Amino acid sequence: MKHGNFELSILRECKFRLDGGAMYGVVPKTLWAKQAQADDLNRVLLACNLLLIDTGAAKVLVETGMGSRWPQKEAERYDLHTLGTADQLLDQVGLTVDDIDFVIISHLHFDHAGGATIERDGKIIPTFPNAKYIAQQGEFDFSFKANARAKASYRKDDYVPLQEHGQLVLVDGDHEVTPGVWVKVTGGHTSHHQVVYWESAGQKGVYFADIIPTKSHVTPPWVMGYDHFPLASCDIKSEWLSKAAAENWLVVFDHEPGIPWGHVSLSDKGKFDFATLDASSLEFASGKGRALASVV
Ligand SMILES: [Zn+2]
Repeated sequence: MKHGNFELSILRECKFRLDGGAMYGVVPKTLWAKQAQADDLNRVLLACNLLLIDTGAAKVLVETGMGSRWPQKEAERYDLHTLGTADQLLDQVGLTVDDIDFVIISHLHFDHAGGATIERDGKIIPTFPNAKYIAQQGEFDFSFKANARAKASYRKDDYVPLQEHGQLVLVDGDHEVTPGVWVKVTGGHTSHHQVVYWESAGQKGVYFADIIPTKSHVTPPWVMGYDHFPLASCDIKSEWLSKAAAENWLVVFDHEPGIPWGHVSLSDKGKFDFATLDASSLEFASGKGRALASVV
């Protein structure tokens, strides 16, 4: 989809399920069950929606998804269904892994960094051989000292090999990755969680990553139980959604299992409403179908 002078594509990497209680934190099930249907293990359906931003000068991939390095037991726990290798996903937009210039990872949890590396001939190597991978220094440092609750979400093989290959760029705070595309630190989900913000020809957009994982999480107090700083998440959501509503930004949700992008507006009652784009927005410029064709 054209957005300003940029071409945007959603590449859906996987679908999976997580416990509904963990996804909605302190929100009672009687409320969240109206938004998301739980299976008999109380898990709700989610997706990993990668965003490809082609600025014309650079190809930026936002997030890498769960990737392929999953033992069967864990894949079953998350009901993980991978929808394609990185090359298969990129083929939909006429690209290969060699074409990606930058990979932005919002934070280093396994459902965001899992696809950053692949196993080849017994070695774990970067999936995108020519890319600079952008992550926050503070997030990287934290992953090595995470306590018992936090450390289960980090797998070192997702990102240490990037550093060994000289492809990991650790930035400290807000940073312009390539003209028109920025990472901005929000905190909340993790202390150094970052979102991706872009501007092109007067159009603005944001990829919220795990600050607002699905459209059901637009209400600021509907914060995930996984968040390290849930009160901060609530405030950050209000602040960013207010800006997005005032300037009609395109907003993108990383784990939304339906159409994952659209616009927010602020109602007279002070409530944020979300309107999805039409499914045709998910069609690839290459003419090779669309992101949801293989899903749900
Ligand atoms: Zn996530």
